[in-house]
Amino acid sequence: MQIRGDTEVVAVLGYPVRHSCSPEMHNAAFEALGLNWCYVALEVAPERIEAAFEGIRALGLKGVNVTIPHKEAALRLVDEAGEEARLAGAANTVLNQGGRLKGFNTDVEGFLLAAKEGGVALAGKRVLVLGAGGAARGIGVSLLRAGAESVVVTSRRRERAAALADTLNALAGRAWAAASALEVREMAEAGPYQVVVNVTPAGMWPNVGEMPPAPWEAVAEGAAVLDTIYNPRQTMLLETAAGKGFRTLTGLGMLLYQGALALEIWTGREAPLEVMRQALDRALDLKKSPA
Ligand code: NAP
Repeated sequence: MQIRGDTEVVAVLGYPVRHSCSPEMHNAAFEALGLNWCYVALEVAPERIEAAFEGIRALGLKGVNVTIPHKEAALRLVDEAGEEARLAGAANTVLNQGGRLKGFNTDVEGFLLAAKEGGVALAGKRVLVLGAGGAARGIGVSLLRAGAESVVVTSRRRERAAALADTLNALAGRAWAAASALEVREMAEAGPYQVVVNVTPAGMWPNVGEMPPAPWEAVAEGAAVLDTIYNPRQTMLLETAAGKGFRTLTGLGMLLYQGALALEIWTGREAPLEVMRQALDRALDLKKSPA
């Protein structure tokens, strides 16, 4: 691809964001599709996010991805929002239609597509979600969509989990979600679980020797353990779960599918999934070795 006068630009806005693998994934896809587009990572401090959104309009960017810590602000700053973004309370993808910004949340569907590809059934399952932050809310919406029987959300700060359970119950219109401290005994008492999903950053590079507490004795035989972390691909949590005979799934699939859905929103073209998957793999391999 050659940067020219008519090259279209999309970007990921985050803070920090220099570690992102999304540029490699999307630029490989643009090339495969023969699109003269480019994708760059732009570090935007929290207090500059309003200005950055005005910049999307002023500079005529085709769209953006938004990552930590801007996803909630993004929902506030768009002109209209898709249903998943409204339910999740956050937008990770923005489409610029002639200065009018539309927000989407492709994490919600991305998680479901990754679980499906990984052969992890969610319908009718009792699910434990480790974490109660912004991404956990999106996963909660995914689980509700998928027809999970119930969900227990957890946080080191118990009140954070309680607030998320209240939000999810309001969305469900029934007592579907419960809260627990991120503490083995309390989580075990609310079990048993057939699916466990880590949505905390515990175990994410460079802290690869960490993992969140998990109530293994309350995890049912044949259960699946999913991580949303993708760097490293095999977290300590997944290695431990595999050692106990549970089926495991890394967060790489969620990253891939949320990206593929975003690309389809911007370009209207079908995402070249295998090209994007290979580009992600290469980017992650490079990031493992000290540059
Ligand atoms: P967040 O809003 O900061 O929430 C993090 C949650 O984890 C909170 O409940 C927090 O609890 C807890 N937590 C934080 N540090 C912890 C630690 N060291 N040990 C145990 N618990 C800890 O973050 P987020 O936006 O929800 O993102 C969470 C993770 O999701 C990210 O780190 C990322 O790995 C993953 N993610 C992956 C994808 C993907 O495409 N694969 C997409 C989105 C997110 P307290 O505040 O109570 O301490």
